[in-house]
Amino acid sequence: MSNEGQPVVTATALPILPGATLGILGGGQLGRMFTIAARTMGYKVMVLDPDFASPAGRMADVHLQADYTDHGALRQLGVACAAVTTEFENVPAQSLIELARHCRVSPGAAAVAIAQDRSHEKSWLAQNGFATAPFALVYGEGDLDAALAEVGTPALLKVARFGYDGKGQARIADRDGARAAFAEFGAQPCVLEGFVKLERELSVVLARDDAGHCAAFPVAENRHEQGILDVSIVPARVADPLADEARMMARDIAGKLAYVGVMAVEFFVVDGRLLVNEIAPRPHNSGHYTLDACVTDQFEQQVRALCGLPLGDTRLLSPVAMVNILGDRWHDGGPHWAALLAHPAIKLHLYGKETARPGRKMGHFNVLDADVEAALELAEAMRDAL
Ligand code: AMP
Repeated sequence: MSNEGQPVVTATALPILPGATLGILGGGQLGRMFTIAARTMGYKVMVLDPDFASPAGRMADVHLQADYTDHGALRQLGVACAAVTTEFENVPAQSLIELARHCRVSPGAAAVAIAQDRSHEKSWLAQNGFATAPFALVYGEGDLDAALAEVGTPALLKVARFGYDGKGQARIADRDGARAAFAEFGAQPCVLEGFVKLERELSVVLARDDAGHCAAFPVAENRHEQGILDVSIVPARVADPLADEARMMARDIAGKLAYVGVMAVEFFVVDGRLLVNEIAPRPHNSGHYTLDACVTDQFEQQVRALCGLPLGDTRLLSPVAMVNILGDRWHDGGPHWAALLAHPAIKLHLYGKETARPGRKMGHFNVLDADVEAALELAEAMRDAL
């Protein structure tokens, strides 16, 4: 009898120790920083990414250059690795299921399937009692009127899948605008969201292990420019009870998802209340400050959770401001690295991407200072001078 579709191997002896090979689906900057952390700890790393110039592929022991749905490549990865993780939510959940026949996979397909589709994600959050901005699901043009009546205007129409960094989103003022935006997105499933007045945006990166222990990093306060993260400030400048509540909500979400691995939860603060914006089943851009400012960084934590090791200490060693470096800076002879590198308390991280495009994340830098306002001031000055 064929056992096609049945798990062949699911039980991996834990912890997985240095010397073993770890795999990652996706070879962007998050995969690159995972690869660096894993190799630093003595693991070998295999990256699956179709792009021959993948930032993580260049750092890995092996780069499998193939599509995420390539059965042969998935099998090769699953057989070679003791465990596999992912760096982006758009990896097909089916690929994770396929991999899980061969090795340990975290996070699991179920959690990734929820996070990769805004309509599933918003519905899951609402069903589980987590407050969000008002929303309505739009599967066809015929749903638009009811959605607008429910949510009101102004609103944001967001594609349910494959949107990121503000892409696949349109501001909606009225019925005609909603129809035009829905048609512009190719009439694909969308979520219509009330446009809320943001006091602040916060995020929590945490890790959860197989036994359900959670380790949350300090809350980040995030500022976006045109839908893309610009600066993260840590500690977030909010009252302690609100920061504690954000960490508790993130833990609750991870628990209810039975999540194993590193994940992030983005929040809006509206009228002093927390609304969940989205869940990322992976390390997060707003957690890059941990690379220089915490005892354990989010990528080491990803390795630890994946390998079934005890989670690392998430303590903040210094206030910090993280600035994203976008491809827009590659003009007029810039970026001006010398000034940035001349500063003794700034840590630069570049992702090894050869082509700079506007909006493309090329790197980031962390500014450490005992005074968070001073860190932010220097970070902004350096960003503007870059
Ligand atoms: P998203 O891709 O959903 O995280 O959206 C990117 C950014 O757009 C967020 O970080 C916010 O700055 C802004 N944004 C998204 N949704 C809303 C909303 N419902 N109301 C106000 N601003 C929003």
